[in-house]
Amino acid sequence: MRRILLAVAAVATLPFIVPFSGAQTPKKENHDLGFKDTPILPGLPYHVHDSDRPHPKVVTPASEPGGPPSDAIVLFDGHDLSHWQSGPSPITKKGGGAPDWKLENGYFESVPGTGDLATKEKFGDVQLHVEWSEPADIKGTSQNRGNSGVIIMSRYEIQVLDSYNSPTYADGQAGAIYGQWPPLANPTRKPGDWQSYDIVFMAPKFDGDKVVSPAYITLFMNGVLMHNHQASMGAMVYRQVAHYTPHAPEEPLLLQNHNGHVRFRNIWARRLTGYDQPEH
Ligand code: MG
Repeated sequence: MRRILLAVAAVATLPFIVPFSGAQTPKKENHDLGFKDTPILPGLPYHVHDSDRPHPKVVTPASEPGGPPSDAIVLFDGHDLSHWQSGPSPITKKGGGAPDWKLENGYFESVPGTGDLATKEKFGDVQLHVEWSEPADIKGTSQNRGNSGVIIMSRYEIQVLDSYNSPTYADGQAGAIYGQWPPLANPTRKPGDWQSYDIVFMAPKFDGDKVVSPAYITLFMNGVLMHNHQASMGAMVYRQVAHYTPHAPEEPLLLQNHNGHVRFRNIWARRLTGYDQPEH
């Protein structure tokens, strides 16, 4: 009787075993790498899931958040200022010599009385990562409290300033497109802490003296959205309405010297030319 029960139990179990043993049979995999029999996407030369659509290039990300990916131009890695030169001085209008800012352990710092710092490379459409810090014992008020700036194409300034519980006019606080657009938020950390800017900048386009397309700026500060594809009104100017003057498609990046002691580190750029980008 016990044998019969065991046999019945074995047979009853069989249907539950079969599917598992069947799982060892190779499944039919989806080898489709696209289609040519699908509708054409509006305004594009490609089908939906088009097998001939070019793939994006492979970029190896940094091992740590905020680090330069494999295709970045590392403008400052904490060791030397070889990518930089003295920028145009607001007084002498001269530049091009050796950088005269102070290089310390892993960062460099603006020196009052010297000029801006300028990249030797020139950039147009670009992704930028910049980290900056104000002195922990910062003094001064409003625009005289750690003023500097990331001046893209030597013209379009994103303000650097201590804006941690420090009032100033809204279109001049940290992350402002100076004199034009206040940022959407104020995520400034206290002086002495490092702040990060992640910027996507689309260069303006000119046809002779005519502006075909303004510059567009997207900015994250400390991971917080500050500007979302915001159109710039023109080159940075103080107490006036900005306007455009045609310039070359690529220009140096400047870091502003406003006679403060502002520190910078971990600066890298990715050229965005050659990308299939939406119209703007
Ligand atoms: Mg400034």
